[in-house]
Amino acid sequence: MTLSLGASGVLERWLTGPRFRPLPNRSPGTPPPLLSFEFFPPRTKALEAQLWTCIRRLEVLRPRFVSVTYGAGGATQERTHATVLRLVRESSLVPAAHLTCIGASRGEIEVIARRYWEAGVRHIVALRGDPPAGSRYQPHAEGFAFAADLVSGLRRVGDFEISVAAYPETHPEAPSPRTDLDNLKRKLDAGATRAITQYFFDTSVYLRFLDRCLAAGITAPIVPGIMPVSNYAQALRFSALCGASVPGWLGEMFEGTEDDPEIRRMVALVVAAEQVRLLQANGVDEFHFYTLNRPDLTYAIAHILGVRPEAPPRASGALLPEAAPAPEPSP
Ligand SMILES: Cc1cc2nc3c(=O)[nH]c(=O)nc-3n(C[C@H](O)[C@H](O)[C@H](O)COP(=O)(O)OP(=O)(O)OC[C@H]3O[C@@H](n4cnc5c(N)ncnc54)[C@H](O)[C@@H]3O)c2cc1C
Repeated sequence: MTLSLGASGVLERWLTGPRFRPLPNRSPGTPPPLLSFEFFPPRTKALEAQLWTCIRRLEVLRPRFVSVTYGAGGATQERTHATVLRLVRESSLVPAAHLTCIGASRGEIEVIARRYWEAGVRHIVALRGDPPAGSRYQPHAEGFAFAADLVSGLRRVGDFEISVAAYPETHPEAPSPRTDLDNLKRKLDAGATRAITQYFFDTSVYLRFLDRCLAAGITAPIVPGIMPVSNYAQALRFSALCGASVPGWLGEMFEGTEDDPEIRRMVALVVAAEQVRLLQANGVDEFHFYTLNRPDLTYAIAHILGVRPEAPPRASGALLPEAAPAPEPSP
């Protein structure tokens, strides 16, 4: 067979670009990455059942911890507490309770933290929190003003493991990237053990942020927060609120999939899998997943990262949940 470059020179064009190596395999014996999963507390019985299906599906992956969010404005205090306590009672998972400074005095927050400590909860995700939609953040007159103050307060209650938030693209209210980085350092210096990032889509943004953290003297893990996106329109709205930039290529990937949830889920998997593999190729071996209480994308990405269940799920005659059509997730 004779290869022809043809009039258009297609092959020539294909053969003159840069050459990339494939992403490296993990070397034999390297442990799979450490994962954590984030859930939100359910509003209704039906959503609670959905959350627990999600928890059971992901439990076999033995995440390092699972965290439960605290609604904007502190709206879900009781539901967060109930979900965390049910995790303690009914699962093998290590729960981390999100706690915010919003709408409560220092004394009230310390009471909540003590309740967690007494229930055996040893990990808190300490945040300033977001005020209810449409309002500006105002510290409570007798409260902790910022997350760094909350971290110090928690340290006085118990020897908690504490995670805090980090922003590779800078927190939207911060006067500058530098002051935001100083704030992250303050939170870690106050006693937090790791930071979990706001989600991002451009991997280089996160890697550059790690460089800046290191240069600022930060050595604690800055765990990437991974948001598997399967509802692009909602992800756009979310991202505008939290200051995560959405690269043009992401829109192009999802373009035309609006009425095709199955294809959208496949695209979502490819996008997130590519992101975590790139991070893994850069040496990152800890990941935090925003599950939105839907297990399948997270489970599949964990599988791609090399995380497998302890024992394969037992065949019970029933099909695995994968086969059941899942309701459409939010972002
Ligand atoms: C992993 C993760 C989980 C989250 N979970 C929740 C949740 O469960 N519930 C919820 O409501 N929100 C949650 N959020 C959102 C978070 O609460 C918001 O982004 C909030 O606006 C900032 O919280 P923070 O803890 O980062 O605040 P902080 O670290 O206190 O920073 C807030 C802002 O204030 C600035 N700042 C800090 N200290 C000072 C100071 N002394 N003087 C002046 N400026 C200062 C910072 O630069 C930043 O701009 C989460 C975010 C992440 C990344």
